[in-house]
Amino acid sequence: MSIDGHSSAPGASIHVNHWCEHEGCKQWGCYGHSPRKDVPARWWCAEHFPHKFGAELEAELKARG
Ligand SMILES: [Zn+2]
Repeated sequence: MSIDGHSSAPGASIHVNHWCEHEGCKQWGCYGHSPRKDVPARWWCAEHFPHKFGAELEAELKARG
């Protein structure tokens, strides 16, 4: 066990780097959403989080490309 308790092994930690996916935004993506368990979460900062979930969010993401 390392001092900080984290491992760099893939899948060993949920603490991955995820930045806001909004184009041009360099802020930390502190708000994540995944429509299903088998779909990797997408991340946004507080400013760009779409504040929508489920089918509504999926539709918006699809529209954005
Ligand atoms: Zn952002």
